[in-house]
Amino acid sequence: MPTPLLILSRREVEELLPMGECIEAMAEGLSALARGEALQPLRSVLWTPDRNGLLGVMPGHLSGAAETAGLLGVKLVTVFPGNHARGEDSHQGLVVLFDDATGAPLAVFDAAAITAIRTAAVSGLATRLLAREGASDLAILGSGVQATTHLEAMRAVRRLSRVRVWSRDPEHARRFAAAEGERQGVDIEAVSSAREAVHGADLICTVTAAREPVLEGAWISPGAHVNAVGASTPATRELDAAAVARARLFVDRRESALNEAGDFLLALQEGAIDERHILGELGDLLTDRMAGRGGEEEITLFKSLGLAVEDLAAGRHLYRRATAEKRGTRFAM
Ligand code: NDP
Repeated sequence: MPTPLLILSRREVEELLPMGECIEAMAEGLSALARGEALQPLRSVLWTPDRNGLLGVMPGHLSGAAETAGLLGVKLVTVFPGNHARGEDSHQGLVVLFDDATGAPLAVFDAAAITAIRTAAVSGLATRLLAREGASDLAILGSGVQATTHLEAMRAVRRLSRVRVWSRDPEHARRFAAAEGERQGVDIEAVSSAREAVHGADLICTVTAAREPVLEGAWISPGAHVNAVGASTPATRELDAAAVARARLFVDRRESALNEAGDFLLALQEGAIDERHILGELGDLLTDRMAGRGGEEEITLFKSLGLAVEDLAAGRHLYRRATAEKRGTRFAM
């Protein structure tokens, strides 16, 4: 009898992948990548003819841990930025898992929830590894899905004393401050400029769909840690070249950054940095191959692009928990 397919809805993914557990799952996945126990090619991206959206295909393999088999998997994700204005998710899709011994399909999970949670969890991990221990003043640039989960992730790794949010549409910043302030039980100030949001902040998350810089290097305080999450193509960026040049730069994966990170590539083209500016991957820090922050005054920068291995590590965690707790829908193909 083939194993029935496990299906998890968005709600089930949210329930079975709390931020704290997802941060640990990301640490396992990115450590495996650093040890050569995970494989993934660069993602492939197919734009619609009018370029209003794309389909991304992100395959990968995660080797088995002691008690579990390895996993083959793929995230199929559509990104339609215009959905945001209609109140719909800009990222939708599926994460599909296969048994790596037989090729049998094991699971299909909602990818919108996985992407929302795992991306912020990776930023949480980067913050835990790179930010000053006492960092507590958070600025969030952007007010969409990632802004929400990034606030959760920052609260999971640092004790916050102040939270400011800026968004291109001031009404969206106000709505975010009211809704997430109440839901997450924190005071959030909606401010009218990105510069005002980051003034004096020691944690900065850029989570916008901007194509041009929303964060300038001159605005960043010494000792701050920045998670740059929004731009994930070679021609788009959220940070100006000065912001990248001023910071010690770490990435999720070097090969991805060299091919996909406009924040890095445009600064490189403008001559503000050279290729050696990427100091390492989060996996290098997790496996103690290198040190992260060198001093209290340094600015650290994590450039996130999003990796298949992160979706697989989240998927493995979901598969284990759903199986143990008999959650989800089982479907015989
Ligand atoms: P949403 O669609 O939910 O929100 C988009 C946000 O971007 C809104 O706050 C919007 O502000 C802002 N925005 C849109 N256009 C501009 C612009 N031109 N200038 C400044 N701000 C702008 O998206 P998500 O929160 O899901 O994703 C945010 C970004 O993160 C996207 O670019 C997405 O592709 C990226 N991402 C990266 C991942 C990774 O692994 N690194 C994974 C998932 C997403 P307003 O509402 O005020 O207009």
